[in-house]
Formats: sequence, structure tokens, C-alpha cells
Amino acid sequence: MVRHECGFEAPIHCKRCGRPLENNERTGLYCPHCGRRVSMLCPGCGRLW
Ligand SMILES: [Zn+2]
Ligand SMILES: [Zn+2]
Repeated sequence: MVRHECGFEAPIHCKRCGRPLENNERTGLYCPHCGRRVSMLCPGCGRLW
């Protein structure tokens, strides 16, 4: 589960390798397995994650 600053929480998985993403305060969402950074809009508040 990753948690956005607005409080929205969701299990989001890497599109490339399928592992759960983690949230990093400075860089945003990323995959700890393949290192992919993910930019997406938060479904809870509509702002950039
Ligand atoms: Zn990955
Ligand atoms: Zn949000």
C-alpha cells in the first residue's frame, strides 16, 4: 500500500514487473524492484502523486 499526502491509500503495482510500488517523499512513487519512477494522478485528490 502506498499513501498519498491527501490520505488516499491504494495498492499500486509496477506496470513493468508487477511489484508493489513504494512512496518516496522526494521522488514520488517508485518501484523498489526495477527502479522505475512512476508519475500518476492520485485518484483521491487528482493531483500529481
Ligand atoms: Zn518494477
Ligand atoms: Zn491524493
